[in-house]
Amino acid sequence: TLLQKTAVVTGSNSGIGLGVVRELARAGANVVLNSFTDRDEDHALAADIAKEFGVEARYIKADMSKGDECRALIEKAGTCDILVNNAGIQHVEPIESFPVDKWDAIIAINMSSAFHTTAAALPGMRAAGWGRVINIASAHGLTASPFKSAYVAAKHGVVGLTKVTALETAREPITCNAICPGYVSTPLVESQIPDTMEKYGKSREEVLDMLLERQPSKEMATVEQLGGTCVFLCSDAAAQMTGTTLSVDGGWTAL
Ligand code: NAD
Repeated sequence: TLLQKTAVVTGSNSGIGLGVVRELARAGANVVLNSFTDRDEDHALAADIAKEFGVEARYIKADMSKGDECRALIEKAGTCDILVNNAGIQHVEPIESFPVDKWDAIIAINMSSAFHTTAAALPGMRAAGWGRVINIASAHGLTASPFKSAYVAAKHGVVGLTKVTALETAREPITCNAICPGYVSTPLVESQIPDTMEKYGKSREEVLDMLLERQPSKEMATVEQLGGTCVFLCSDAAAQMTGTTLSVDGGWTAL
């Protein structure tokens, strides 16, 4: 169990991040939720998790596109035994017309934020004599698709950063690994299904078939499964796993 441990999960007021927060809290960890907004509902989300799982839960606003705010998040958290770098955005467009501001934002949020939070969190993990860094990469950290230049570059970068972090902590009870999901059922993905059904005049099954073309299982992973993978990486069973990638992609990268 993760009693007495504190987990900071970036980009966790929805989707995979929230699923990871919930599974870590279920395993007994205190949790820090994060996004770039500071709404009542963000703080209410943390209060609900505290109540449901009987752990401490806080919401801390920090914009992961800004290096100083990434570092401030870890400082404000006070303790960070488990760092899950999850915040991420996407933009799909061919390279020659890919907006420069979108490129910069994706590189900053999806990749550089993990550098900043890891730099800020490692001293505390070393002092505590235990730590887990988990980077939520993607099947696109290992393979590519057209029109996703910034995303694929950033996710490959995160996989590289994962290996370096693992080597720099190899002699310590700290591990760093990357989880590489294929399609995961999140509100973001689910919300696109009705629109796509209408646009192409297709059934839900046909749209899922299109969406899951590269996912041999033809099923999306769930946020609970991603959370469970994080809990496993925090367990003693995973203490000798470091610097590697765990694919949760229904066979995508086996193709
Ligand atoms: P999502 O949009 O539901 O969640 C993204 C989270 O990041 C949200 O909480 C959002 O508020 C936060 N965020 C965005 N910009 C931020 C910023 N500047 N500062 C702080 N927080 C910010 O998407 P998701 O599907 O849950 O994605 C989470 C991670 O998983 C991303 O890194 C994504 O690339 C990765 N991923 C998702 C899938 C999938 O199919 N859903 C597949 C592979 C990888």
